[in-house]
Amino acid sequence: MVVSEKSGHPVGSKDYPRTLVEFDEWFASEAACEDFLRRLRWPEGFYCPGCGAAGGWKTSRGLFRCPSCARQTSVTAGTLFEGTRKPLRLWFQAIWYFTNQKHGVSALGLQRILGLGSYQTAWVWLHKFRRAMVRPGRDLLSGEVEVDETFLGGADSDIDGRETDRSLIAIAAEIRGRGIGRIRMARLDDASADSLIPFIKSTVSEGALVRTDGWAGYLPLSRHGYRHRPTSLRATGLPAHVVMPGMEDSVLSSEPCTNAA
Ligand SMILES: [Zn+2]
Repeated sequence: MVVSEKSGHPVGSKDYPRTLVEFDEWFASEAACEDFLRRLRWPEGFYCPGCGAAGGWKTSRGLFRCPSCARQTSVTAGTLFEGTRKPLRLWFQAIWYFTNQKHGVSALGLQRILGLGSYQTAWVWLHKFRRAMVRPGRDLLSGEVEVDETFLGGADSDIDGRETDRSLIAIAAEIRGRGIGRIRMARLDDASADSLIPFIKSTVSEGALVRTDGWAGYLPLSRHGYRHRPTSLRATGLPAHVVMPGMEDSVLSSEPCTNAA
């Protein structure tokens, strides 16, 4: 497995080692661990958490220095690892072990596998991991989820005739009975599978039933652990975002939808 890019946000379950051998290759050094963390925090490049200025440079002590307010920020500031005196590599090993034990991890087990001198450290780390693990899983949509794309920001072009850049927005919405549950949205570069699948993987939990229109960009879904139910809406000749049932019930009209499948 190869890290997809040197810049840009690592993608969950893709940009992550699957085996111990891969782990060792990925995180062979402190520098590699720092680099991974930097990409997670600042996928578009460093910006100052104080004043928001972009750019800056790395000091000899490995801190990022803001070009505007001169504030110095470490890559671990504000993360699980802030203020630690232990190597990041040890932390990463602990997390990797923690996330790969199906039947749970004890502080004693963690202390032993990492060779930590102190049981207390293992115990504190374990609790940090458990707290940190709570949110990601809960944030993912599950059950039955409808995914669709639409364009936003194009209204002005109709009025003054100018071509403006319209943004492609992907929407994932949980179907709850006749209503809509939680919703996730993101701006995509395009409607290709390379854009749509990562969006779905980052917003919808595996095993969910994903309903989409018949667009080819969704076809790989079933290979990514989802139950995929495409509806051939394109056959109606209407743009998909006008006829997908749950999406439009809440946004546009209350008319019942008739799918010419
Ligand atoms: Zn600043």
